[in-house]
This record gives sequence, structure tokens and C-alpha cells, in this order.
Amino acid sequence: MTNSGKRVAWVTGGGSGIGEAGAEALAADGWTVVVSGRRKDALDGVVAKITKSGGKAEAIALDVSNKAGVNKAAEQILAKHGRIDLLVNSAGINVPKRSWADMELEGWDKLVEINLNGVLYCMRAVLPAMREQKDGCIINVASWAGRHVSKMPGPAYTTTKHAVLALTHSFNMDECVNGLRACCLSPGEVATPILKLRPVVPSEKEQARMLQPEDLGRTIAFVASMPPRVCMNEILISPTHNRGFIQTPA
Ligand code: NAD
Repeated sequence: MTNSGKRVAWVTGGGSGIGEAGAEALAADGWTVVVSGRRKDALDGVVAKITKSGGKAEAIALDVSNKAGVNKAAEQILAKHGRIDLLVNSAGINVPKRSWADMELEGWDKLVEINLNGVLYCMRAVLPAMREQKDGCIINVASWAGRHVSKMPGPAYTTTKHAVLALTHSFNMDECVNGLRACCLSPGEVATPILKLRPVVPSEKEQARMLQPEDLGRTIAFVASMPPRVCMNEILISPTHNRGFIQTPA
């Protein structure tokens, strides 16, 4: 990044899984990391771990579906650090009811609010500062479910992840000329706590064959390390043992 001094990253969903691993990898690369999520205790644990390893981190409790709260968090980071160089949108959920037959609108609304609107709110919240900096990178954690349609993730999750991919590409169409870039990370199965929301939780053996959170953490740090002239629109990542899911783009 062009900023020769402090580099500030804001990671949502930073209390666990991919967000936590991303925060750790970024801190190890010298970034000052602000982790956000709903559970303050989990965030404090991540901050303590990073600080213990000599990194710089702090926590802001936040529900990404609360637009006013998102804007306030961005203001708080800018007031303290003066810039936001990187936003990682990793906050996300799925719901247990996953077929057209039993899908409830309540579950649909919740997924759209968190997985899609939450991403949009955070992107919009950092946009003025990034435009002013003429530099900034956004990494949106979508999914292979944003590329393909299959039964297991369900229609609502799949729709939100397809939309995040489109949102990322359309951001680049408008904002790359201003020196900004966004990248969609589209992983296959990752062994994180989100798997507990599945109707059938994969066994330990199955989880060991999946991508691990640190694989995604390293990918996040890699994308963030690229010079501003490089825009990576999307990175598709599959586990070698993909349990039969088709994960190559058509
Ligand atoms: P995770 O459950 O460990 O992480 C999700 C985080 O988001 C949690 O810390 C949770 O507290 C936080 N969160 C949920 N709702 C929130 C809200 N309203 N506001 C703020 N934070 C909120 O699971 P993960 O696998 O690390 O998920 C991270 C992202 O990766 C998600 O967007 C998920 O859809 C995506 N993803 C996961 C997999 C997988 O197989 N694990 C695969 C592809 C994509």
C-alpha cells in the first residue's frame, strides 16, 4: 500500500473463523487491526492473542446490520487512526431452514440484512475516507455458493453470496479509477464455527479435509499486501478434497 506509515485494517466478523484468522495474519504483517463483531468477549480474546504475539489490535463491538452503528464504528476508527486502508467483510451467518419448502421470510430477511446489507453498509462507511486517501482495499468474504447453486447452503444464503460477488465487481467498475479496489474471496468449505449452523454438522474427519481458517487468513494478508495498481476481482479457493462439490467456474 502507498501508506508508508501505519496501515489500518477493519475486520468484521473478527471474533472467530475466517475473520479472526485474517486479523491475526494482518497483524503479523504489521497492520493495526480493528476487529468487529457482536460478541465483545470473543473480540477481546482475539485482541489479547494478537497483542501477546506483538501485534496491534483493538475491538469494537458491532452488529453489521445496524447501519448507524456501522457508520459510528467507522467514525471511531477514523477519529483514532486517521485512516482506514483495508476493510475485510467477514461477518456472515446462515440459517437452519434451507429449502424453498420450509424457508421463512424472517430467515431470509436476517440473511439479507447481515450477509448483504451489512457488507454494503461497511463498504459505504469507509468509502469517503478511502476516496480522500485515493487508496483503499476491500475484501469481501463471499463463498463458492456465490458462484454456484447447490442444495446445502439454501436459497437465501446462496442469493446473498451471489449478490456480494456482484456488489464487489460493480464497486470496482466505479471505484478503481479513484485508486480503490475490492476483492471477493470465494472459498469452498472452511472448518469454522459457522458449520454448527448446518442441519448435519460435518464430522471432525470431514472438517480436517476442509480449508482451514488460517488458509483464508493468509489469503487475506496476501491480497492486502498487493500494490494499489493490482485489483484482484475474485479469488476462488477450494479444498483439495472437495467432497464432490463442483467448484470450478463455468
Ligand atoms: P464464523 O461463524 O466463525 O464467523 C462469522 C462471524 O461473523 C462470527 O464471528 C459472528 O459472530 C460474526 N457475525 C455474525 N453476524 C454478525 C453481525 N450481525 N454483525 C457482526 N458480526 C456478525 O464463520 P466463518 O466461516 O469464519 O464465516 C466468515 C464468512 O465466511 C461468512 O461470511 C461466511 O458466510 C463465509 N464463508 C464461510 C465458509 C465456511 O465453510 N466456513 C465458506 C464460504 C464462505
